[in-house]
Amino acid sequence: MTRLIVVSNRVNPPTGKGDETVGGLAMALSAALREYSGLWFGWSGKTTETFTGELNVERHDGVTVATVDLEESDLNEYYNGYANKTLWPLFHYRQDLTAYDRSYGEGYERVNQRFAETLAPLIEPGDLVWVHDYHLIPLARELRRLGVKNRIGFFLHIPWPAHQLMVTLPGHQKLVQSLFDYDLVGFQTPDYRQAFEEYVLTEAQGVMVGSDLRAFGRTVKVGAFPIGVDAAEFAQMAKSERAWRTYNVMMAHTAFRSLIVGVDRLDYSKGLEERFAGFEHFLADNPEVRREVLFLQIAPVSREGVEAYQEIRARLDSLSGRINGEYADIDWNPVRYVNKNYRRDELAGVYRAARVGLVTPLRDGMNLVAKEFVAAQDPDDPGVLILSRFAGAADQLKQALMVNPNSPEEISEALKRALAMELPERIARWTQMFETVTRDDVSAWRDAYVGALSGVRETYTALA
Ligand code: UDP
Repeated sequence: MTRLIVVSNRVNPPTGKGDETVGGLAMALSAALREYSGLWFGWSGKTTETFTGELNVERHDGVTVATVDLEESDLNEYYNGYANKTLWPLFHYRQDLTAYDRSYGEGYERVNQRFAETLAPLIEPGDLVWVHDYHLIPLARELRRLGVKNRIGFFLHIPWPAHQLMVTLPGHQKLVQSLFDYDLVGFQTPDYRQAFEEYVLTEAQGVMVGSDLRAFGRTVKVGAFPIGVDAAEFAQMAKSERAWRTYNVMMAHTAFRSLIVGVDRLDYSKGLEERFAGFEHFLADNPEVRREVLFLQIAPVSREGVEAYQEIRARLDSLSGRINGEYADIDWNPVRYVNKNYRRDELAGVYRAARVGLVTPLRDGMNLVAKEFVAAQDPDDPGVLILSRFAGAADQLKQALMVNPNSPEEISEALKRALAMELPERIARWTQMFETVTRDDVSAWRDAYVGALSGVRETYTALA
């Protein structure tokens, strides 16, 4: 049987206990690897003074996990630097937050070389190599330099930016060229794939060869593979003992009020400030129902080493305090804002207790919370999903109430509509979305991607 090697920046092996921590990527990969008895390679999350290239190998729940430590400067320049201060903001349309520092670019190249040198000896003939996300775009180029001829695929979990934005990145040509060392390049939605093609056709004199893309002397397959969640498992989890306990706690605390819930990593791409402003607008516009709602925002902190994340955290603290200061009463606080990280089975209970799921990122590759919210609902009394049109998930979850997350008015209107929605309409919308998340689940995503990568003939020849 073909072995699958998955490569991602962070490796988060499954514990099989439903208590995995934050990260849509980690959740999806755990499921994929269990089935293919594969190897998962990436950074250990630890740093040493100097890079040794020593491998830590462990087995977890049927998956071999091989990790390598990085050195302190790698962390600053590659992870906190090029990945999270350059590519992440730029690819999420935040040019204002994008830092272009030469040392970041150098650190990014260096770490990709180091990963390639450590990984190459583990690759056997016939293995499929599947590389994940923006941290590792040049990895295939480095593996090819070391003589690896296996089929290598890349999947981008975040958006691919519009052409005019991409060209603002110094060295964009080199970065895009390195994608042509893969055999298959996958995106979350047809829109992102199209944006990539447009760049290649206009900036790199590329041509379409059928549905493949030819440029830099190489032809690669490109495709849209929207990532899913394990919907059946999540629906089951929403009925677990722990989910019920959380559900009951939520119900007791809401005291017959309608619960509006948001769950996001604390990240500027998630539109949290705009969401709070939208909720504030709703409170101001609807004095008659004001006291009948409660907005719970769960936002575990992330990437604390990056200043922009410290700044947004401070702004949200003050914004939630201001809204409560303005509207709270002796027996009611409109906003409950929590920075703790919750287990997924607890989240499932929270989603099930909610009348409205408020998912309003300014940009998001996919957004798994939207899909998990749908999966967790009670079929007899489902909640309503309000979804940003700029989340990749909007391409599939068409029965959500769609909003422009930049507009507090639209968010306020959607909240009003969601809270007033009658049961038959809620059921009709939810049923279709549940069908979608169940059909296009994480296994469907994996099978489609791995199927497409296996279908490529192993004919790698070096770039011209
Ligand atoms: N999540 C979690 N605990 C939390 C908050 C989030 O386990 O307290 C999980 C959530 O269930 C989802 C993932 O983190 O699976 C977030 O994925 P998403 O695609 O929504 O956003 P990302 O964080 O990858 O940008």
